[in-house]
Amino acid sequence: MKSSESTSNCQLTPASVPAKITVLGATGSIGLNTLEIVRQFPQKFQIEALSCRNSIEILVEQIKEFKPRLACVDNSKQARELRDAFHNDGSGSETEFVWGVEGLMQISSAPEVDLVVAGIVGAAGLKPTFSAVEAGKTVAVANKEPLVMAGELFVQTAKKTGAKILPTDSEHNAIFQALHNEPVERVARLILTASGGPFRDRSLAEFEQITLAEALDHPNWEMGQKISIDSATMMNKGLEIIEAHWLFNAPVENIDVVLHRESIIHSMVEFVDGSFLAQMGLPDMKVPIAYCLGWPERLPMKIPRLDPLSMNTLHFEKIDPQRYPCLNPAIEAAKQGGAAPAVLNGANETVVSAFLSEEIRFVEIAKIITAVMQSLKEATMQADLPDYLREICTLEDAEQADQWGQEQAGNMLEQIN
Ligand code: NAD
Ligand code: MG
Repeated sequence: MKSSESTSNCQLTPASVPAKITVLGATGSIGLNTLEIVRQFPQKFQIEALSCRNSIEILVEQIKEFKPRLACVDNSKQARELRDAFHNDGSGSETEFVWGVEGLMQISSAPEVDLVVAGIVGAAGLKPTFSAVEAGKTVAVANKEPLVMAGELFVQTAKKTGAKILPTDSEHNAIFQALHNEPVERVARLILTASGGPFRDRSLAEFEQITLAEALDHPNWEMGQKISIDSATMMNKGLEIIEAHWLFNAPVENIDVVLHRESIIHSMVEFVDGSFLAQMGLPDMKVPIAYCLGWPERLPMKIPRLDPLSMNTLHFEKIDPQRYPCLNPAIEAAKQGGAAPAVLNGANETVVSAFLSEEIRFVEIAKIITAVMQSLKEATMQADLPDYLREICTLEDAEQADQWGQEQAGNMLEQIN
């Protein structure tokens, strides 16, 4: 079981020396939760680098508080402006500003860094997260899209470099905890739980009228916009099946999804002897993030706790494919393997972004993704299929397959509009 193999060269520095952390996507939901934990444990953690694309004003406050050695922004103009502002404000700030993908790769792989938290959203996290793995870091991976696009490359590279990929997505973190180093042969099934998102009880007849605000209003979790939409469509769970397949070396057929509306059980492992192990807690991303930051220890977190007496009933329900028409194309892409997951990811990012800018309706998301996956099937029957749609051998292949999915979805969007 890849994620649970113990490696000797990727432990954090001894407890007396704070671990140096890079936070990719520091101004997002994962980034803010990470920094809240770091704030609670100044003896254990030190921020080496922060990055963001949006919300520069939040990054500025973070730089003042955590005094990172490096900060990465989107472009050279922003980097220059920030450098001038910080160097002229009399605070003696020594933060160096870098930018763009190169900058992100630099802060992920800098020799001083012990642990990288991958909290960028989408395919944009591919290169920086991969750089951290190539550099043999401990990498807390919340950013699932790179694993969907190039999971095999991540796992193979981590094996070579000794990097430790720590599953931070709540379901995968639950499985990581429940597996507790047991070998893959003992696992019968992984069961991912899904909250069902905001439309789990909405009449299907009303789906045509779903608004952006309703789709962003997740009942159990506070998250960034893209993952909130992915949760409403349940594409998120599809991406998570692919993520689990790579992280835990589990056949796709042995990964199931159940709707669990309370989000208390974050996922389960069924072992060959009939035992089930689950991880439970209130829906709070600080728990899985703290598990990864503290790993292999546990941090004494000051957070609201689950009261077992308040759990009258936990519900588990079958997923209705009519309600969640994105799930089946994702499962098919997972089974198909090769370029299919990257194409799926590209198509999904494009349509979600179109939905977020109110260019399409909610119900059109699944229709376009299904059509893109159908066009991939047709393309694979052609003799002149490009190699990157056959197999993902390099990061560039993954990027090109993702791009192909984006373009196909883009063409279909043009036809709608
Ligand atoms: P978010 O939108 O809240 O934050 C994204 C961060 O990445 C921000 O700091 C933003 O500035 C930065 N960013 C965005 N686009 C970028 C780009 N092109 N280049 C560089 N930086 C960029 O997202 P989030 O909800 O924190 O999610 C981050 C990742 O973690 C996603 O892949 C998501 O699926 C995963 N995840 C999130 C949660 C959660 O609770 N939020 C839970 C599980 C997994
Ligand atoms: Mg999740």
